[in-house]
Amino acid sequence: MRIFTASLATETNTFSPMYTDLVSFYQSFYAPPGQHPVTPTLCSAPLVACREYAQQHSAVEVIEGTCAWAEPGGLLNRLSYEHLRDEILMQLEAAMPVQLVVLGLHGAMVAQGYDDCEGDFLSRIRAIVGPQAVIGATLDPHSHLTDLRLASADLLIAFKEFPHLDFMARARELVYLAVAAARGDIKPVMSCFDCRMIDVLPTSHEPMKSFIEKICQLEQDHQALSISVIHGFMAGDVPDMGSKLLVITNNDAKQGEALARQLGLELFSYRGQTLPQFYDIATALDQAEQLQGTLVLADVWDNPGGGVAGDGTLILHQMIKRQLQQVAVGTIWDPMAVKLCFAAGEGAEIELRFGGKSCATAGAPIDKTVRVLRLKADAQQEFADSLVPMGDCALISFDGIEVILNSNRCQSFDPSLFRALGIEPSHYKLLLIKSTNHFYQGFAPLASHIIYVDAGAPYPSDPTRNVYKKLSRPVWPIVASPFD
Ligand SMILES: [Zn+2]
Repeated sequence: MRIFTASLATETNTFSPMYTDLVSFYQSFYAPPGQHPVTPTLCSAPLVACREYAQQHSAVEVIEGTCAWAEPGGLLNRLSYEHLRDEILMQLEAAMPVQLVVLGLHGAMVAQGYDDCEGDFLSRIRAIVGPQAVIGATLDPHSHLTDLRLASADLLIAFKEFPHLDFMARARELVYLAVAAARGDIKPVMSCFDCRMIDVLPTSHEPMKSFIEKICQLEQDHQALSISVIHGFMAGDVPDMGSKLLVITNNDAKQGEALARQLGLELFSYRGQTLPQFYDIATALDQAEQLQGTLVLADVWDNPGGGVAGDGTLILHQMIKRQLQQVAVGTIWDPMAVKLCFAAGEGAEIELRFGGKSCATAGAPIDKTVRVLRLKADAQQEFADSLVPMGDCALISFDGIEVILNSNRCQSFDPSLFRALGIEPSHYKLLLIKSTNHFYQGFAPLASHIIYVDAGAPYPSDPTRNVYKKLSRPVWPIVASPFD
């Protein structure tokens, strides 16, 4: 059995000014055939799972294609998308005949002229491999699910957890089911229910925690081969934006449709109740001044993982105004400031303008006399089994505050981002990080308290105020009763 595997993924915030191109992929993650590292990344885990499977089963041969991932950003340049897509399609053509195609996708990639990149990609793959071959892919739950994808693929499996710590488990499951389908042991049938809602659905908190546990139990009880909750991605203005419930049965469409509808309506009943308490900046800082221990303040809407810059300064300006001490900020994206710090050198004291340069809403730049404490080329942080590149980084200090400036946009996944610059996060009173929920698993053990701060910008976090031009269906909360 010959398996072709590849990955092409990014998450597109169509409201973001951080346009995405080929360089964005090369800077974030790009591995041509045979050059993928041993460690998986969020979206390229299927390739690593294929390698594992082939090591254990000598009858399977894996042909590796390119894996490419760009940090979430704005609309993807058309030529860049077509270039990467065609690179992989040509590799697939050269690899034929194959019985199986296993892909790592994200599901919220939007390019100029392509509202449904993954649908386009999957349908072209189907055209090459023919109707008999099995096509499977992992998806990020923050994706859009379209009819074209459902028609083109046999198996689509989304990460169950948010934070997405289960990406390797889902990739292994995909390979296992895809091989079983290629052998004819199972006949996967996908059934989808449109929940007509959009919300943020962390599974580290109730009610989503129990909902996901219930879904895992249903799988264990063989009610379905696989069940995926597509959360949707509110920052993508495309016709299919919104939550969907996807059930894969062993050739039982009737059971699949009934289960997808039942679970989809249960998810709909949780709308508006899934987020932990968010506080405005003043309330959050008032609380922080009262509390003891190491506090984690999450700047939830300046999260590069949602496609914005991650150079916002709204919260830091208020911290400076209040003269807060023992503060560490990880991170603020500013490649220009990093370059200046590298030029000045470790130990230098310089006048520096940093942050607040990418858009009008995320706060003004900060001008300070800073000391360059540490410089680190190609710094990395950890996230589950993967390593996330932060690029060249500078640790600067002023007024009792230390800030890590990074040159590769990335969200704050894990405390290792501070250790990468030689500082121990638990020695600080306040850690200001940029992440909506992916930080939770990593930071919770060292945090005496976690405070979610809603600075109001720059992510388009209120669907009722976002100007959707392409959304084609009634979706809560834009429409109060979307099933009427
Ligand atoms: Zn996601």
